[in-house]
Amino acid sequence: MNQSNPSKGADPTSIGQAMYRLIEDLYPICRSITGNGLRETLRSVQGQIPLELHEVPTGTKVFDWTVPKEWNIRDAYVKNSRGERVIDFQESNLHVVNYSVPVRGRVSLAELKEHLFTLPGHPDWVPYRTSYYKEDWGFCLSQRQLDSLNESEYEVVIDSSLESGHLTYGECYLPGELTDEILISCHCCHPSLCNDNLSGIALATFLAKHLAGLSLRYSYRFLFIPGTIGAITWLALNEEELHRIKHGLVLTGLGDAGKLHYKRSRRGNAVVDVAVAHVLKHSGRDFELMDFTPYGYDERQFCSPGINLAVGRLSRTPHGTFPEYHTSADNLDFVHPERLAEAFATCLEVLSVLENNATYLNTNPKCEPQLGKRGLYRRVGGPADAGVSEMALLWVLNLSDGAHSLLDIAERSGLRFDAVRKACEALREHGLLEQRGDESSPVAATAAGPAIKVGASRGRGPGAHRATGSTWKRDR
Ligand SMILES: [Zn+2]
Repeated sequence: MNQSNPSKGADPTSIGQAMYRLIEDLYPICRSITGNGLRETLRSVQGQIPLELHEVPTGTKVFDWTVPKEWNIRDAYVKNSRGERVIDFQESNLHVVNYSVPVRGRVSLAELKEHLFTLPGHPDWVPYRTSYYKEDWGFCLSQRQLDSLNESEYEVVIDSSLESGHLTYGECYLPGELTDEILISCHCCHPSLCNDNLSGIALATFLAKHLAGLSLRYSYRFLFIPGTIGAITWLALNEEELHRIKHGLVLTGLGDAGKLHYKRSRRGNAVVDVAVAHVLKHSGRDFELMDFTPYGYDERQFCSPGINLAVGRLSRTPHGTFPEYHTSADNLDFVHPERLAEAFATCLEVLSVLENNATYLNTNPKCEPQLGKRGLYRRVGGPADAGVSEMALLWVLNLSDGAHSLLDIAERSGLRFDAVRKACEALREHGLLEQRGDESSPVAATAAGPAIKVGASRGRGPGAHRATGSTWKRDR
């Protein structure tokens, strides 16, 4: 196996700034789980990466769900008796309950209040509310705005449409040496919210943009989907091909100032779970690992029992645990280019582990091979091979019995994956290691429990299933 280096040529600092600029561009758009705001967002992402847009008709059955009617909105407001807009969609799209049915009429303050939502605990913030699956309408406003409304008649207009149409999602496929895939998924259904939604979109976009220029072992599939219904739709339409997905990450909430949190896949000890934990442990920064729960983002669908993919979730402060969550305070001030940059670099490190993880056999397993005569052991007064740790050489030789991957060896030895990988390369150059056939071998049974076979891999080894039939061309 040749070295694969996803971090090659990456400049996280400038990419963090570019991610932030994309967030600024997308921030004003009124997105939802369907409609033109979602399309406009995906077309903007198309300006960065070769994203294929898919349109799934309203009424399509997707497992236990049905693709809903398409929602679009042009304007919405509440006017007082002087004709002034006291609540105005043009000021912020959060002012309208997402998926509100069209409304035109005059109401008393008491009637209006039945359709108003505020956050009394944060009187200057506007909440984000949706009503996707119940036909209703409403406005969101700050508590201060609500307190300023007088007893009077109000004109209410929501110029929206809820009609047969499509659910739109975007897919970017980057073919690698293998048809085995790494899935990266983000949701893109929230309107003007930066951390929840736009940070994941920006990170997925710039990861795809960066990886598109590299030659990699795995194929990569990036999904830009509306939350829940988009994941369910994609899984239902692609069920036959899910066996290709060997590892995956849901990316969300990665721009805030909190530490990184990784939520394990339902399997709990999938290779991606071990790889992310390994990278975070060696990052020197504070982090948190969480076990799978059936609550959260689209990992709920990817890890439902009948799907059960090795997909975990990378975020910072978990949703629902910060006050700005689902409010107007999740704005451009709440996300930071340097935090986005750090998340980008972390993802590349994880991908580097996944790309380079493999299982080898020690070709000289009876007692230690003599490293000194091969120049692999430090001589008196002279260094061994630059950058190769002797300890890593000994660990790799000892555990390369066909049952331990390089990631297993890194975890068992406490060494960084990169040190183990370098030792592996040096030993291979000297003929002391050979690769085991099975490229997709899972992490061996460790303290975490028995190994779980990763998917139903068709074919074995790099030559057995090369990527073909990609849905787009890399030079497009
Ligand atoms: Zn959300």
